Amino acid sequence: MAAAASGRQAWRQVMRAPASSTQKPQLGRQSEQLLQRRAASSSSSSPAAAHSIIQRPTAPAQQQQQRSYSSSSQSNNSSTPPPPPPPRGKDKNNLKFWPFLVVIALGSSSYILLVNRRKEMPAVPPPVSSKTSPTFSPDDVTVLFVLGGPGAGKGTQCARLVKDFGFTHLSAGDLLRAEQTREGSEFGALIRDCIKDGSIVPMEVTVQLLENAMKDTIATSGGVSGGAKARFLIDGFPRKMDQALKFEEAVCLARLVLFFDCPEDEMERRLLERGKTSGRSDDNADSIRKRFRTFVETSMPVVDHYEKEGRVVKVDATPTPDAVYRDTQARLTKVLGDNF
Ligand code: UDP
Ligand code: MG
Repeated sequence: MAAAASGRQAWRQVMRAPASSTQKPQLGRQSEQLLQRRAASSSSSSPAAAHSIIQRPTAPAQQQQQRSYSSSSQSNNSSTPPPPPPPRGKDKNNLKFWPFLVVIALGSSSYILLVNRRKEMPAVPPPVSSKTSPTFSPDDVTVLFVLGGPGAGKGTQCARLVKDFGFTHLSAGDLLRAEQTREGSEFGALIRDCIKDGSIVPMEVTVQLLENAMKDTIATSGGVSGGAKARFLIDGFPRKMDQALKFEEAVCLARLVLFFDCPEDEMERRLLERGKTSGRSDDNADSIRKRFRTFVETSMPVVDHYEKEGRVVKVDATPTPDAVYRDTQARLTKVLGDNF
């Protein structure tokens, strides 16, 4: 009974005080509860970090706020006598409807603000797929996709082709690993998980990284017009049909796919050997198994697709690197001509 009576008394004081001073302390308490929930739910955020999200008043400041809050009603009390308490029925109505009216008013004004803000927002940039033509023409830029299972030797063979024929080597895996560790990248965690799991990073990320790298290369070599034709080996890409279609539609048509064919047991042996020193999170037995599965289920259909179009140069990647390179050169010469 006594508690209920003092609760009613407190409510009357709140209702009498100006609107701004009634809301502030409530908001403060809500923020504090939110802060406590965030601090409790987020294992990484220290209490200090939580403090930096919302500046909570220090203990004396809190007391000050409470004091000024109650002193205003006290000073009211001292200068003018308190208004007579409303009749019981009216008091009940205040308690029932006042907060709802405030909530409805706040809700509607935020909604109107939101609608107006939306109208002012700039249009979202069109996604790469809505482009009407690829960024580069095959007349200016030659792209060879280099595919093969994990450990087939794509990187090794690409390095030799770069040295002898002046290609620019772009490894999709290397670009993703660089993006993964780039400070401020919003894709870091996603890339890390995909690589460890041997799955494919969403194509938009990889296609954009490749296009950026191609643009950078062409810009630093003086542009495409007038100069020698830019030639790229795009290694470990496309690993999935959607990547292939997107890249050719938005970036550049590929001249052909250089496919290094190697049995799984040989690739596994090479990867485990490489894993001793590579420091790569995916050169371990578990990730290797997953990468093999992804390659068979997701990447081989890409090779088959280009095979049907007569755009695959297939090389047996089982022998030594020297032997594979000789074969690669011979087969590329047949299709692209001397010196490619
Ligand atoms: N990756 C991807 N998309 C690509 C290329 C690579 O998601 O287009 C990821 C994928 O998780 C792959 C990993 O990067 O397993 C390593 O790729 P990399 O080409 O370095 O491996 P390699 O086949 O050369 O061993
Ligand atoms: Mg590689």
